[in-house]
Amino acid sequence: MAVFDLDNTLADTAHRQHFLEGRPRNWAGFFAAAPQDPPLAEGVTLVLEQARECEIVYLTGRPERCRRDTLDWLAGQGLPEGRLHMRSNADRRPARFTKLEILRRLARDREIRFLVDDDELVCDDAERAGFAVVRARWAAKSAALEDAQEREGRT
Ligand SMILES: [Mg+2]
Repeated sequence: MAVFDLDNTLADTAHRQHFLEGRPRNWAGFFAAAPQDPPLAEGVTLVLEQARECEIVYLTGRPERCRRDTLDWLAGQGLPEGRLHMRSNADRRPARFTKLEILRRLARDREIRFLVDDDELVCDDAERAGFAVVRARWAAKSAALEDAQEREGRT
């Protein structure tokens, strides 16, 4: 299976990053605007290509309450069907812990071809744990989002 992150790997969050720049951060606004994310062409090409050869799994730091919107978005972009792993609504740990935990679980009974993710810390930890990684470097970086991901464990 090939495992894909969503935000800034397949979905362009640039238009909603302003919700995280104020204090307090507007997480509700940030996630509510996700259905309007434009797709990222490089990620979409890669996921469509991989879907011809293996099972696709989506692994995102978005909370479970975004599941309906996220499934609709994936279908709306014509992306392959696949299991969607999300963060439980109350989980505030940084993505590199939650994602690695799920990767390890998936790897127990399936071969993982690679993880595609834009978060360098997630990629570093996954590589250290022995997973192959494709670093998604095609979206514009957001300092506010990176900071929020690592310190507040929200996405
Ligand atoms: Mg991401």
